[in-house]
Amino acid sequence: CGAMTYTGRFAPSPSGALHQGSLVAALASYLDARAHGGRWLVRIEDIDAPRVVTGAAGLILRQLAALGLRWDGEVLYQSARNACYRAAFDTLRAAGHVYGCACTRKEIADSLIQARGALPVGELPYPGTCRGGIPGGRPPRAWRLRVPPGPVRFDDRWLGPQCQDVAHETGDFVLLRADGLWAYQLAVVVDDAAQGVTDVVRGADLLGSTGRQRVLQRLLGLPEPRMMHVPLVVNALGQKLSKQTGAPAIDTDRPLAALAAAWGFLGFAPLAQRGSGVAQWLQDATRAWAARWKIAVRH
Ligand code: GLU
Repeated sequence: CGAMTYTGRFAPSPSGALHQGSLVAALASYLDARAHGGRWLVRIEDIDAPRVVTGAAGLILRQLAALGLRWDGEVLYQSARNACYRAAFDTLRAAGHVYGCACTRKEIADSLIQARGALPVGELPYPGTCRGGIPGGRPPRAWRLRVPPGPVRFDDRWLGPQCQDVAHETGDFVLLRADGLWAYQLAVVVDDAAQGVTDVVRGADLLGSTGRQRVLQRLLGLPEPRMMHVPLVVNALGQKLSKQTGAPAIDTDRPLAALAAAWGFLGFAPLAQRGSGVAQWLQDATRAWAARWKIAVRH
């Protein structure tokens, strides 16, 4: 009665086949949606054209189907949504939240070294060089969001209360890249809102992006989905599984083995295998997931 329909999504970047790491995120978001009696959408995040591998999107969809992870509605492709990202960008810009930036990576690194004595590890926070206008009248390369000061707090259903100081940790982040592509942060926020996503369940590698996404949602007046970041599968070197780190594709000839491995990784005890079908297994897993998170579905 008036409550928004639970809507979850799996949003793979088509840079390669589904592997054990991406399957964990897919399975968790699928089970959470089904446990809530909600919808589960698939969105192909193919805006980062240089990283897109031809054929990977189709392969991922075939793998999901072979695993019994059936999505609702049409698959959304980010590559078709330029106009929507442009509209959100223009809204932010008209409200004075966007500025042009001429800094190169090297200049950002140099100014951080100058200010702090050393480079921080990980992604470089933007020191704000062009915030008050580009020095020396150079043309802008990228466009950044003027991040408001103050911490962003949210509750993560898996990890508990979170606090991220985006202005300090990331600084004014890029919305429109120097290569002319939309930044992931903007696209995700626009799409989650357009698709009516109420619940984001994804890998913990994206936990650090949530603060930036919250900042954008607040400035654009968009709903803030509930969040759940599930543990990230890493290889023996502690690296996130990816095509770059040599993660093997899921073997869809043995779908139950792949699902069971992802399930075990999420901390669940093996399910008794009644029959051999993925449909039955997914039903049992959905029930166990609902019990674990105390989800009561009212029909
Ligand atoms: N496309 C992102 C990835 O594959 C996931 C985005 C998201 O779940 O918000 O890492």
